Amino acid sequence: MNRLVVVANRVPDPAARGATAGGLAVALQDALTRREAVWFGWSGRIAEATGGEPAETRIGRIAYTTLDLGREDHRRYYAGFSNASLWPTLHYRLGLAQFDRQDYAGYRAVNAAFADALAPRLRPDDTVWVHDFHLFPMAAELRRRGCGQRIGFFLHVPFPPAALFCALPRAEELLADLAGYDVIGLQTEDDVTNLRAALIGIGQPEAAARVAAFPIGIEAEPFAALAVKALEKRETERFRLSLVERALIIGVDRLDYTKGLPQRFCGYGQLLARFKAHRSKVTYLQVAPVSRGDVAEYRTLRRELDEWVGRINGQHAEPDWAPLRYMTRAVARPVLAGFMRMARVGLVTPLRDGMNLVAKEYVAAQDPEDPGVLVLSRFAGAVAQLPGALLVNPLDPDEIAEALDQALRMPREERQQRWQDCAVSVFRDGARAWCRDFLAALEGANDTAAEEPVR
Ligand code: ADP
Repeated sequence: MNRLVVVANRVPDPAARGATAGGLAVALQDALTRREAVWFGWSGRIAEATGGEPAETRIGRIAYTTLDLGREDHRRYYAGFSNASLWPTLHYRLGLAQFDRQDYAGYRAVNAAFADALAPRLRPDDTVWVHDFHLFPMAAELRRRGCGQRIGFFLHVPFPPAALFCALPRAEELLADLAGYDVIGLQTEDDVTNLRAALIGIGQPEAAARVAAFPIGIEAEPFAALAVKALEKRETERFRLSLVERALIIGVDRLDYTKGLPQRFCGYGQLLARFKAHRSKVTYLQVAPVSRGDVAEYRTLRRELDEWVGRINGQHAEPDWAPLRYMTRAVARPVLAGFMRMARVGLVTPLRDGMNLVAKEYVAAQDPEDPGVLVLSRFAGAVAQLPGALLVNPLDPDEIAEALDQALRMPREERQQRWQDCAVSVFRDGARAWCRDFLAALEGANDTAAEEPVR
């Protein structure tokens, strides 16, 4: 079988496999072990200057090949154009997007440096799979260096309507670069519609025909097993005792402005103010590990959330009850799975999210006999696979409060039915199937792919 080359901003630490591996590493695990593979990307190290010889660590049939980046290049490419320009734009938040020509130049320079290092290492029959918004120009850069291999792209985040995306300076250049890919995978049908329109808008109908949806999933069974096992852990037991039989609402997100946390906190405050029966009967745990502290918006959000927590607890707490528990540390996955299983409500209200894996993890973690209720933003990509969730508009705190009230009062039978409706896809459409489907489309793509949609 030919080799698979995965290109992503970050390369997993080959030493940290299993429980600590990131989602993408888990999803690709099967594909990477069944054939010879290369995982190529940034080493995680900052050097004097970008470039030099890539480092290579080989484990079994996988070669982890990584490049160091210079401090300035990394800042402009990562904190700059990727996280302060592309991330907000792709999540429909043009008002938060900043643009700086030098950041953009840094983004292009890093993509070019990746291509310089990778091109000479590619074999003619390799399949190349590029991941996410950090690397829009990768295929175009590789093509410029004479690479004729099959190259696929998967965008893990949303793609907004064309008019919105094209407000970002240099958007058209980025779109034109996408034409270098043989298959362009997105999370949802809405994303597909948006990107196709954008590509047609710049006169690239052939590229538009190569766009298709491949919604990503989780490996649900191992996660469910973790959740069951967690109930034996001391941390889980201590937490359970601390709740004193109060119903638990859980939220788990990176601390990011796309996750709708202020609106969510406000919605919980509304629940306590409007639906008084729940006072003292419910505890909301929000786990939100700090992320991207080097981008100003994230520091502002953190302060805003600190205020919300103080306000809600200050207003509603009793001497023996804190309504909102808030942690900005990460919680180990096996413990988190147990917390999710204990929670009567999973509260997932991003303002916009490519997929949202937490929603699927919450479903996987439930006890089918006595499951909790998922309250889900209608703007998460996961909506398409979770028909049993209670949907809310995450911008409307009253709607969040009403959904929480409904979830907390929901009879067991309805909870079971709704959980069933979600579990079908969560357990069937896993991460490995996603990976197989994408690669089948990419490796099946031939020269006529230009005329026909791949799926
Ligand atoms: P995003 O990719 O935007 O962070 P997702 O919901 O798609 O959002 O994926 C987040 C992943 O990170 C999930 O697998 C989730 O379990 C994990 N995660 C999020 N917050 C925490 C946390 N506080 N502790 C441990 N894992 C977390």
